[in-house]
Order: sequence, then C-alpha cells, then structure tokens
Amino acid sequence: MCFGVRDAIALALERAQTEPLTILGDLVHNERVLAELRARGIRVAQHPADVETAAAMVTAHGASEKAMIRARERGLALTEATCPLVRVAHRAVARLVREGCHPVIIGKRDHVEVRGLTEDLADFDVVLSEADIFGLRERARFGVAAQTTQPIERVRRLAELLRLRFPVSEVRFIDTVCQPTKQRQNAALQLARQSDVVVVIGGAHSNNTHELVCACSRDCSRVHHVQTAGDLRPEWFAQARTVGITAGTSTPDSVIDEVEQWLLNCAAALPDTPAAGPVLTQHGQLKAA
Ligand code: SF4
Repeated sequence: MCFGVRDAIALALERAQTEPLTILGDLVHNERVLAELRARGIRVAQHPADVETAAAMVTAHGASEKAMIRARERGLALTEATCPLVRVAHRAVARLVREGCHPVIIGKRDHVEVRGLTEDLADFDVVLSEADIFGLRERARFGVAAQTTQPIERVRRLAELLRLRFPVSEVRFIDTVCQPTKQRQNAALQLARQSDVVVVIGGAHSNNTHELVCACSRDCSRVHHVQTAGDLRPEWFAQARTVGITAGTSTPDSVIDEVEQWLLNCAAALPDTPAAGPVLTQHGQLKAA
C-alpha cells in the first residue's frame, strides 16, 4: 500500500474515534479495507448531499476547490486526506495555467483525481490516447501534467506526440506521476520478464491495478487480475515454474499474504508443477515453495 493511501486510512480511523465520519468517494478501491472501515462506523457517500454526519473526509485522490466549497456550504466539516503527491499535481496544473498554458491532463476523464485536477479550470483537455492528441485544437502554449497513477512511458509519449502534432506551439510538461507508481510499474515490468504467470492483486475499479495488468501483459502472456485469494484458479498455474505477484497501491498486505500463501500451497499440491518452483514477490525476493 502506498504511503498516500495508508496515511488517508490512518487519518479516517483517527477522526472516526472522535465523531461520526463519512468518506466522500472511494478512499480505496478495495472491498476488504472498505468493510473494515464500515466496521469502525465510518460511512462512505459518493455525494455531499448523501452525507448524514457532520464530518466528512476528502480521499487521498483529492478534490477541486469548487467541490470542497460546495461540501462546506452544506455545513460539512471537511478533513482533507489528499495525498501530498496529488497536491503536487494540483500545484503543477495551477502553475501551468498561471504561465498562460492551455492545460492538457493525461489521465482518465471520469477518474476522481482527474475531476479534482480539472474542475477548477475554465478550459482544459483530458487525453489518454494518441487519438485524443489528434483531436486537440492548436493553442499557442500547452501545459501538460498527468494523473499521478498513469504509466510514465505513456505520459512521456503523449507529451512528445503533442509537440510533434503542434510544432509551432510551445509545449511545457511537468511530470506529476508519483514515485510509488513509477517504482511499482518498473518492478512489475521486471517481474513479468522473469515469470511464467503474473498475479496482479487489486480492486476491480483501481486504475493503478489495471495499469499494472497492462504493463505485465507486455512481457508475460499469462497475467491474472484478482481481488482476493478466493479468485485464484489452480489451472492458471499448470506447468508454471515461476509466479510473480504484484499489487495495486490500495491492496492491504493481508490480502497479498493470503494470495502468496495460496500459491505456495498450490505449488506444493499441483502434480504438474515442480514443488520446488519459487514464488517470486514484486521486489524479486525468492520464497521457496
Ligand atoms: S498512488 Fe501516488 S499519488 Fe496516489 S495516493 Fe499513492 S502515493 Fe499518493
């Protein structure tokens, strides 16, 4: 779990000790963590209008100033659990706009973090593909930033394509992809190259988990996305000697440990899998089966 998500969960638990708390939106895309928060009396609402407590919390993904003002106007006492690296992205976009650039955000248009980055802007574009770049109209100055969990290669490629598409325009690029995402993506690529099968653990709606699946699929043809150990199937590992495990930034350690244990049991039980075959963790640490 990255420090941004971990700190946000800790803050929610701390605040909920003093008064009833509602989290605005999905703090994490992980059902087990959400169930644990609900068990501590913490509620989740997608809109301020649905909040029934006096206190509410903005998630690690952050929110726009407009959204926070709207929530406060409803009388909510807001706590911000915005990740410091999401704040860096907000500041980068604000700086690009101040310097006269038309903001282009590389990310998913409907993702909560991208909504937070763009809702305060008068004019902007959100792009995710090369086709999106070709759909842009020319501006004198473009300012490019990205959703923090986008793969850095995609971000660099699209920023470069923008320069090629509009050679007369000035294109300024600020790299806002967070360091935990970069490290995890790099580690996942190395892992995929060493593995016969890769298991990616994370929520069904987790963007960085989907990006890990895409990254691993480039170098490994047998990549499976699971939310818990209950999703694993023994037949996925037939003839596999090395299995790689990686996980999205909001996946709890306990879920990862359960998947790893399931795989170790599977390696010992499958007749066509070498019992001595290793299970390889994301950081390349070998664990004997
Ligand atoms: S993925 Fe990166 S930006 Fe998002 S919460 Fe984690 S550290 Fe912060």
